[in-house]
Amino acid sequence: MTDPAGGAPGATADVEHTTTAGTAARATAGTAARATAGFRSRYGAEPAGCWAAPGRVNLIGEHTDYNDGYVLPFALPLHTVVAAAPRDDTGWTVWSELTGDPVEFGPAAADEPGLVTGWAAYVAGVVWALRDAGYAVPGARLAIASDVPLGSGLSSSAALEAAVLAALVDLGGLDLPSGEQPRLARRAENGYVGAPTGIMDQSAVIRCRAGHALFLDCRDDSVEHIPFNLDEARLTMLVIDSRAPHRHADGEYAARRRSCERAASTLGVPALRDVAVADLDDALRRLPDDETRRRMRHVVTENQRVLDTVVLLRARRVREIGSLLTDSHASMRDDFEITVPEIDTAVEAALAAGAVGARMTGGGFGGCVLALVDADRAETVAAAVRAAYAERGFTAPGTVTAIPTAGTTRLR
Ligand code: ADP
Ligand code: MG
Repeated sequence: MTDPAGGAPGATADVEHTTTAGTAARATAGTAARATAGFRSRYGAEPAGCWAAPGRVNLIGEHTDYNDGYVLPFALPLHTVVAAAPRDDTGWTVWSELTGDPVEFGPAAADEPGLVTGWAAYVAGVVWALRDAGYAVPGARLAIASDVPLGSGLSSSAALEAAVLAALVDLGGLDLPSGEQPRLARRAENGYVGAPTGIMDQSAVIRCRAGHALFLDCRDDSVEHIPFNLDEARLTMLVIDSRAPHRHADGEYAARRRSCERAASTLGVPALRDVAVADLDDALRRLPDDETRRRMRHVVTENQRVLDTVVLLRARRVREIGSLLTDSHASMRDDFEITVPEIDTAVEAALAAGAVGARMTGGGFGGCVLALVDADRAETVAAAVRAAYAERGFTAPGTVTAIPTAGTTRLR
């Protein structure tokens, strides 16, 4: 893998540098070739096909999902590819280039959440969710290759679920409407793996379109594809992997959810999505303590920032979203208190080096930073972030240049 924007050499999450649709397609072809070669060497046969699902990043709208609000993710040109072929019996063998030995399980293990553990639980979870919904899932052999870094907040888990789901649906000729696929993939993660995620990740990796961001209303799962053309605006989106160790992320996440629920119930609304920015001052007065007020203010203003971003993108005023991204970051840092020093350093360094806007993306306490930069300043900004990291003694960040890519597809 190349990393011209200069992530840490040899570090695990170095990601592909892709600036055009052509190079992105070549990168995916390389991933598919690895999955296919893995299939041949593990199983001594040809796969029946290859299915690719992308990673994703959220452009704006953080911690709005569980408040029935809005999010705006787009798919990245980094893919998880599954090469697969049916088995004669009802059983599943899965191998990933990242994990070594294959894992095998039958229907009894697939039907009992918790029996398949570790990374293969994401695969068993898809089989479980399909079978639980009444589908006759074909037995299959699967080989998986991926360029989506694991655990960096780019949703390698949803990419894995989506690629496996697409493979099983096609191999079995299952009549699963595409609109149902995100919910089913999410069930695999919630119900089998046991991770309480919202619907954003699976919706994004399955439903995104090239050149567009996905405007998702988390209240009713409705979506709209919003044009997001960076080239036209002569802009580049850097995704900077902060490499910050996740610190107490689960407990802090649960605490933020509780604050939001408390605020909504005090205000007598079903969810904070129902508080409009125009009513913010009144709502702030009605909450009992400063912390709950600040948590609520983040969610209410963040929802509005998503709506404002959508308006600007629809009008093709891409550059103007920069200040919304930066405002979103300040809100996460000061009101929601979910950033960490590495993340704030990356945002500050990017802005000081001329980024049009920058923010942490994802749930917080680590993960990635987005920096919207003039195309001819991408390297300067990336170098400035690296220098700021070096000065503070942080593990060097990884960088990928993102272009909005299509969701899950069959490659061959
Ligand atoms: P994220 O989705 O942000 O990357 P998660 O913690 O939700 O982080 O999911 C990461 C987990 O998903 C990994 O620890 C691993 O169990 C599983 N996983 C994702 N992609 C792969 C892959 N290609 N091969 C094996 N396991 C994978
Ligand atoms: Mg995940």
